Amino acid sequence: MKTALPNSTEAVHAGVLRQRPSHTLAPAIAQTATYTFANTADLERYFAGGDADPERQEYGRYGNPTVREVEQRIAALDRAEDALLFASGMAAVTTTAFALLKAGDHVILFRDVYRRTRQFVINVLSRLGVEHTLIDPGAFDQLEAAIRPRTRFALSESPTNPYLHCIDLSRFAEICKKARVKTVVDATFATPCNSDPIGRGIDLVVHSASKYLSGHNDVLGGAVSGSSALISLIRDLRSVLGGIMDPHAAALIGRGMKTLALRIERQNATGLAVARALEAHPAVERVFYPGLPSHPDHKVAAEQMRGFGGVVSFTVRGGREAASRVVDGTRVAAIAPSFGGVETLIEQPCIMSFHELSDEQLAAIGISPALIRLSVGIEETEDVVRDVLGALDALGGA
Ligand code: PLP
Repeated sequence: MKTALPNSTEAVHAGVLRQRPSHTLAPAIAQTATYTFANTADLERYFAGGDADPERQEYGRYGNPTVREVEQRIAALDRAEDALLFASGMAAVTTTAFALLKAGDHVILFRDVYRRTRQFVINVLSRLGVEHTLIDPGAFDQLEAAIRPRTRFALSESPTNPYLHCIDLSRFAEICKKARVKTVVDATFATPCNSDPIGRGIDLVVHSASKYLSGHNDVLGGAVSGSSALISLIRDLRSVLGGIMDPHAAALIGRGMKTLALRIERQNATGLAVARALEAHPAVERVFYPGLPSHPDHKVAAEQMRGFGGVVSFTVRGGREAASRVVDGTRVAAIAPSFGGVETLIEQPCIMSFHELSDEQLAAIGISPALIRLSVGIEETEDVVRDVLGALDALGGA
């Protein structure tokens, strides 16, 4: 099943209040740690659930109107009943996992999920008596075989980092639903503008809002969307664990989201143009981009995504040293981790995210020292293409 993905009109208006206090167009930032009550009767009415405002709060850790408005916008774009914001993507992942689990449970993880998510499951959840099984990207036979009576959820990303594997979301949902296992998809790379996990039957969608949602590389945040019942469970735990979003961060994310669809349109176009240009360059060994027919998941991606995103990974001939020269030779791209913002960023994963690993350890997890990850920004497509090709040309001539 396909749901219509959000367009730019929705990115600007979805979930936005039409009338605000003092008639401001832009939201005021509710910078407050606590909330007041007119008198004891007012407080007692609030706790009895009789307040006229269902969103009224008593204390900042339990809710904030600036944060809440952005949550409602994320829920609207994700086609979900409700959504929550967190201090970071990892706070969203960990709070969601804790809300679904107890000791003795089991979780299934696709092997190529974000390494901190993997570390959380392997190093933290295992200490608390939660077992796990790691399965290969897209291996649904392994998924079916891994499900146990105590399996609570299976987690995947789509696309994944850095090889941009895309999984068939409907199939993932269908297999897990049959076994009453919840599905969690980290859709940070896809955003609500490029894929619709909820529309395809996924239970919970997680985003690192530090990436495309905010879009300006200037704020950290995380989000989770899903049914009211599941979100309510996670909200209760967020109030205990405390990984809440600051209202200023929410305002930045809310503002960034207004241009989400526009940015994604440009980043999809530039990603595809860069990937095609790289594939035609003699210094490039292999390109990983789901929009290219050469990508192993191209068919799945073409069926379930509107565009293929702004991250392109590729290996160059000449190994680690040649890849470093390409990274150093770019002028538009800045050398930095992260992705999804307006600035083009470039990194060599063996030196950045996996810097502590030896060549043997890198080989064991399938990371080539010659691998480069490029996250295209919103600069002119030709400028980004020219920048990367220029750095590759310089390599050939050296
Ligand atoms: N999920 C994915 C796919 C990521 O790439 C990241 C961070 O890079 C995270 C989650 C964690 O997000 P944050 O850095 O906002 O905690």
